[in-house]
Amino acid sequence: MQLHTKILLGLVIGAIAGVTSRLLFGEAPELLWVVDNVANPVGQVFLRMLFMIVVPLIFGSVTMGVASLGDLKKIGRIGGKAMGFFLMTTAAAATIGLTLVNVIGPGESLDPALRAQLLEQYSGEATERVGGGAVFGIQTFINIVPRNAVDSAARGDMLGLIFFSIVFGIALTQMAPERAKPIMDVLDSLVEVVTKIIGYAMKIAPYGVAGLIFSVTARFGADVLQSLAMYAGVVMLGLIIQLTGVIGVLAKFVVGIPYGVFFSRCRALMVTAFSTSSSNASLPANIRTAQEQFGVPKEVASFVLPLGATMNMNGTALFEGMTVLFLAQVFGVDLSLTSQIIVVVMSVVTAVGAAGVPGGSIPLLVLILETVGVPGEGIALILGVDRILDMSRTVPNVMGDQLTSLVVAKSEGLLPPQPFERDPAVIR
Ligand code: ASP
Repeated sequence: MQLHTKILLGLVIGAIAGVTSRLLFGEAPELLWVVDNVANPVGQVFLRMLFMIVVPLIFGSVTMGVASLGDLKKIGRIGGKAMGFFLMTTAAAATIGLTLVNVIGPGESLDPALRAQLLEQYSGEATERVGGGAVFGIQTFINIVPRNAVDSAARGDMLGLIFFSIVFGIALTQMAPERAKPIMDVLDSLVEVVTKIIGYAMKIAPYGVAGLIFSVTARFGADVLQSLAMYAGVVMLGLIIQLTGVIGVLAKFVVGIPYGVFFSRCRALMVTAFSTSSSNASLPANIRTAQEQFGVPKEVASFVLPLGATMNMNGTALFEGMTVLFLAQVFGVDLSLTSQIIVVVMSVVTAVGAAGVPGGSIPLLVLILETVGVPGEGIALILGVDRILDMSRTVPNVMGDQLTSLVVAKSEGLLPPQPFERDPAVIR
């Protein structure tokens, strides 16, 4: 059986087992024990295997990507194209989100008693998740340049690490080739080692995915979902539109890859994103998919995809825009057209700033809420369903990155002709 079929099977079995156990045993301590001592640990080991390699992967692959592109002009051109495309698709996503909430109005029907109850129930968690809150300003841009690259890597500040790696790669291209070669050889081997470890992680992926999904579904009470069904449903609808109506359509018309072929070859990637809720944890699968399924050259994949994992979050921008407007409706705050445009712009900017980890966008969401005058603690209302929405929005997040790598490779004339079977013989 092929690996992605196994991973998909892990997802389905884990979900069915989780939902059934929840229905049969409710909140029985034995079920919680199984979640805490069996399912979640297996899932966490898988997740940690992926997180464990993100720092060497980003450093090795971004540096090598930039260095192999060779000249500054080419690096700037590819980086510029990628970022332009990121911004376009993210803005489209935020606009779709806002339009849907305006049309459907899921916040208008929320019962005030339920609102009070949810606020009370989740306010503690909200304070914890938001932390000290996020500030946004000129400092945000200064912070992209790390004071200490090792510290950035240790804190999970991927933008800082990427900046360091890009500069490192550029410097390598400016040296005498015989002086640059030893380091390039080492980095080349480093990327190969990391790729091997990714192979190990992916071997346990079917079990890890099953464990993660089981933990979520077995813990997930349907009652919160019921009360927020309308909101969660509209967000899901938006994410599906972004994935199938924007990303899939662009893959077809801009890159020329038929719809079914595109999604079918990205199966393992989408399942990884869904089960880990993290763009960073999905980065290894993302690079692998670009190279092995579509033949995107290494230097493009390893430069564009790490950038995407950190900066390009279609699903997150859509979710943020929708949630701000939903909470505005719930609290009866009337947002003018100008405020709504501010929401779109801020959703795009904060989606760039959000970390590619589970729940990475929550602190930034509070920032947008407060900017447009919606109470920040309103976030407590949606936390009960955020886990499932987080898993879902991470799928368009990573698929947007995959699409960008294809578009950039194609525009550079570097994408090989695509065999149009759904499961290509591996193309390299
Ligand atoms: N979990 C998302 C990601 O990693 C970020 C977020 O929206 O919270 O892509």
